[in-house]
Amino acid sequence: MLLRHPREPLELADVPSPRAGEGQVRIAIEVCAVCRTDLHVVDGELPDPKLPLIVGHQIVGRTDGGRRVGVPWLGWTCGVCAYCRSRRENLCDRARFTGYTIDGGYAEMCIADERYCFPIPDDYTSEEAAPLLCAGLIGYRAYRMAGDAKRLGFYGFGSAAQILAQIARADGREVYAFTRGGDVAAQEFARGMGAVWAGGAEERQEVDAAIIFAPAGELVPAALRNVVKGGAVVCAGIHMSDIPSFPYELLWGERAVRSVANLTRRDGEELFARLRTLRIKTQRTVYPLSRANDALRDLRSGELVGTAVLSPES
Ligand SMILES: [Zn+2]
Ligand SMILES: [Zn+2]
Repeated sequence: MLLRHPREPLELADVPSPRAGEGQVRIAIEVCAVCRTDLHVVDGELPDPKLPLIVGHQIVGRTDGGRRVGVPWLGWTCGVCAYCRSRRENLCDRARFTGYTIDGGYAEMCIADERYCFPIPDDYTSEEAAPLLCAGLIGYRAYRMAGDAKRLGFYGFGSAAQILAQIARADGREVYAFTRGGDVAAQEFARGMGAVWAGGAEERQEVDAAIIFAPAGELVPAALRNVVKGGAVVCAGIHMSDIPSFPYELLWGERAVRSVANLTRRDGEELFARLRTLRIKTQRTVYPLSRANDALRDLRSGELVGTAVLSPES
């Protein structure tokens, strides 16, 4: 499925089969999960995508050698800059991103840099594993940045939150789900995934730290209002609307606001090591690859519960 121009529907097209270069692998794609960032790319909210582009960065498939691997958002880094040399390659200025500046996974085949592929644990099906590759990985990085908060607030309860809620519970923490006001379906979903409380984003409910998944800047002051002194508000999305001004009093008391950018390979190694003993369940809706536009539409409208997964074979 090709994006020829931002803000236009993806187009089903035949493209030449890609060839792997030095250090790369060719992957026959089994599934690709849909991420909100795909929407930001398609909707033209992220600058300068490769065009035409194959979107998608939560890919699971098999290499020509038969190994099952996952391909995440971070697709290539320079390896020599100060960020790369300090194992913060997520901040590399020259980084390239799967499904944004490199062709991604809304396709039957893709090429990936071998160094950035992760082996998939055997007891996860490809469909189960795909949402872990961005929602799981970047979510996990955000989770670590939230520190050792006992009561953790999630603003927006979708793909990443459903995964993190299970990790948080396994760590003995309580999850508080803040959704769009009146979104009863999302609140029920959150409770079903183990949230001890679910309500509207404008509601007052004290938490020790908060992670914002929804791309809405007005959630930053809303979350600060609910976070206790010393707590962090972590913005986990790659794109967010402008943050409205707010009184310093909301930040006072050593509260912190920070963003999380991309992922490092270390995040992936840590998360996949945890997943060997912690079984994560995700709620998914499978769409055939040719219906990628429908999956994006359902995510955009907020109708989708859980994660959309595209399958070239169905
Ligand atoms: Zn670099
Ligand atoms: Zn993503």
